[in-house]
Amino acid sequence: MPAHLLLQAKAGIASIGLEPDGTVSQWEASAEALFGYDASRMIGREVTSLVPSPEEGDTLKGFFKACLRGACVSDVSTACVTRQGDMCFCRWYAVPALRESGETGLAVMVKDVTAQTLAVNELNRARSQARSLFSSSPIGIFQADIKGRILVVNPELSWMLGYESPAQLTESLQNVSCLFSDPRQAESFLFQLYEGEQLNRFRCQLRRREGGLTWALCYGQVTRNAKERVNGFYGFCINISMTVRVEQELKRVNEELRRASIMDATTGIANRGHFDECIVTEWNRHVREQSDLSLILCDIDHFKRYNDTYGHQAGDHCLARVAEALVSCARRPGDLVARYGGEEFVVILPSTDLNGARHLAETMRCCIEGLAVTNERADLVTHVTLSLGVAAMVPHGGTREAELVHMADEALYRAKELGRNCCVVWGEAEG
Ligand code: GH3
Ligand code: MG
Ligand code: MG
Repeated sequence: MPAHLLLQAKAGIASIGLEPDGTVSQWEASAEALFGYDASRMIGREVTSLVPSPEEGDTLKGFFKACLRGACVSDVSTACVTRQGDMCFCRWYAVPALRESGETGLAVMVKDVTAQTLAVNELNRARSQARSLFSSSPIGIFQADIKGRILVVNPELSWMLGYESPAQLTESLQNVSCLFSDPRQAESFLFQLYEGEQLNRFRCQLRRREGGLTWALCYGQVTRNAKERVNGFYGFCINISMTVRVEQELKRVNEELRRASIMDATTGIANRGHFDECIVTEWNRHVREQSDLSLILCDIDHFKRYNDTYGHQAGDHCLARVAEALVSCARRPGDLVARYGGEEFVVILPSTDLNGARHLAETMRCCIEGLAVTNERADLVTHVTLSLGVAAMVPHGGTREAELVHMADEALYRAKELGRNCCVVWGEAEG
């Protein structure tokens, strides 16, 4: 075979000569290599017999007629079936050529473009799949260029942010930074994305069209050009507004539960359980810091008589008023006033020495007296009074907080013995 024909065969190009009516007049070895038929089978046969469908046969015939007329038609593509029954895709080129008989026939070249056709089909399929994923995705997607210009967004993102259509969003917001509620968030998003080339679980708030905000979990993935240079990115946004609302509600309920669990229902101040926790914490802290920890135990005088005279409901109300008054006296941030039990209250005074505690106890006693809550059957006076026991110490490793409570309790007992409505400091009123 001549070299040029061998080259053609290798390149998947076949040479064919056709009569004006489209029958084969010349069938080169390159055509045999491509279609599997030899010249004896093909010469005199319609070349359209290679094409699987009548429609494609008509296309091919039309193309040849146009070529014969000298019309300027470049090429036509059809499927073909080889002798082995395989389907291939061919591109046909033809020019008028003078036959030995003196008639004008056609010189035809057929190129096997199966590989390219399959690749293009595959590409188109992948493209259309990507397009349908993009438009039906339940996740908001946008594409931006390296300058942050928003190129395209999907319907979910426009819906998520309150726009009527993706086009409306891209027209209104030209830059990615306008998507974020806070420009610093946009900066941080872009910085982290370009730093790591992808970004996961970026929690932020996106700006809605009407001015509100939408909580979103965003992901980012850089895109590259043909030279593998980063030329922008894809952003993926999941609407988590509902999740955030539930989280916030859960946090609020938990805080409420925690507050309720440490609060005494009758008086609204800290309960005994909270005191038990706090005294241990403070004790340990004071062991470390070696500073004074003071405690005041107080007990309402003749409260049984108060209850007996005015009833339990009035008694409860009186307890709440006393509690409120005590809290108003203990003003330092670390101070804690708690209901110790019954009509007894306890006050923790961190980093406070005996003098400070004594002073506060006296302030508290005066404050309750000043409330002037009538208690006709109290001894000597006719209003509600308080007895207080005060104790202070610098805790050390060998002691326990119970010791301090015990000291304050002893002092309180002594205050009752001394006639009530007074403060006794532990260790100062012996005998
Ligand atoms: P003292 O001056 O010696 O402390 O006499 P007191 O009557 O205050 O002490 P006592 O221990 O004899 O009585 C305490 C009373 O406090 C008895 C009880 O009915 C009342 N009490 C305890 N807890 C509550 C409460 O939650 N609500 C009401 N209303 N009363 C309570
Ligand atoms: Mg009591
Ligand atoms: Mg009492």
